[in-house]
Amino acid sequence: METIINGAKLSIIQEDITRQATDAIVNAANSSLMGGGGVDGAIHRAGGSAILEECKDIVAKQGRLPTGKAVITTGGKLKAKHVIHTVGPIWHGGNRNEAELLQSAYSECLKLAAENKLANISFPSISTGAYGYPVSEAAKIAEGTVVSFLKETATSLKEVVFVLFDSRTYESYCSALQEITSKES
Ligand code: ADP
Repeated sequence: METIINGAKLSIIQEDITRQATDAIVNAANSSLMGGGGVDGAIHRAGGSAILEECKDIVAKQGRLPTGKAVITTGGKLKAKHVIHTVGPIWHGGNRNEAELLQSAYSECLKLAAENKLANISFPSISTGAYGYPVSEAAKIAEGTVVSFLKETATSLKEVVFVLFDSRTYESYCSALQEITSKES
């Protein structure tokens, strides 16, 4: 599924994000930046040790990455040129600023991509795996943040892709986008 927002393409596909040939893929990392399970583990396995070395340097310089923030490394052996690492919130029921923190994770990645003059970026579904964020809520925030950014910001970005691993997540993101675009037209 795809749509055009202010001249940029926003699409949703069901695939493995580690195989994306793009300017940047986003990693749903944890604050240690030392790798982990889920998409984080898959990215480090496919990208090789260079990415982990860069992450270690970043943590040595600036400490652990707070929730809602993002940093950029090269893509190592990946087809993607860069990896943007962000930390989404752990779901605690919705009263611990989860929505704001998830929105911040997406917008910090988009800002970093624009600062680095990237043309395309691929996102996984941040926080909806091990971190337990309900997928339909997360999809609205993820897509709403991207749509607002593309509308409101003069940006280098020409393409934003949500790369979703399983069909349930894919369907949720498609429904959320349909809702957002139908409200706008
Ligand atoms: P978090 O800790 O932020 O919840 P997870 O990695 O546990 O992150 O899950 C986030 C999402 O990433 C889940 O929907 C999971 O199915 C998905 N995922 C796992 N591996 C991949 C992959 N290789 N490509 C794209 N998405 C993936």
